[in-house]
Amino acid sequence: MHKSHPRPFNLVLVGPPGSGKGTQAQLLEERFSLYHLATGDLFRAIRFHAGGDDVLANEVKARYDAGIPQPDTVAVELVDRELKRLHRKTGFIFDAFPLSVPQAIELERMVKFYDMRSPLAISIDVSEAEAVRRLTLRRFCPVDQHVYHPQDAAYTANKCAVCGGPLMQRPDDTTELAKKRYLTYADRIMKIKEFYREHGRLLEVSGEQPIQAVFREVLQALVPYL
Ligand SMILES: [Zn+2]
Repeated sequence: MHKSHPRPFNLVLVGPPGSGKGTQAQLLEERFSLYHLATGDLFRAIRFHAGGDDVLANEVKARYDAGIPQPDTVAVELVDRELKRLHRKTGFIFDAFPLSVPQAIELERMVKFYDMRSPLAISIDVSEAEAVRRLTLRRFCPVDQHVYHPQDAAYTANKCAVCGGPLMQRPDDTTELAKKRYLTYADRIMKIKEFYREHGRLLEVSGEQPIQAVFREVLQALVPYL
């Protein structure tokens, strides 16, 4: 029997480093067949298109090579290209976007333009102490950059699951630097949460529980929107 489906979800995940939002994003992506739109990936990918007639690609590469940060507008432009290309085919889960209120406003404009559903923001909340604790506990493989957490078998074995090599702590995962990073994000996150709260589209979930429990809470929060 044919059932008419509502337009797909669009989700924005908000949370500081160490909140586990990457893991939740992956679970949500699988559950709802969403397209994982990570601006970090877009920035990496577009550099390979430099050297041709893609003006944006040339500008991004030039800034990257000169060590100049990319302006807010570039992320917006890259997201717009992806929405233009894929909005008829799928819903999206946005990763590291929006990172500011101006970007959140741009995202509202773009979803309206492409006649997509307004994004729901899911905030994975963790305290500073817990975020810092998790960041200083995690290990990574210096060969292939895989990251491991205490609940992973590879972590206990101190052996990378991909290459078998020994795991290390990231140089910037010290307590002091992790605290600094949390505080930088906390201010940004507060403003983005406020934006979505005002729009009546903020779902808040406690990130201080096991992965599956967080996921259950996320799914429950989404029920009214299914
Ligand atoms: Zn490895």
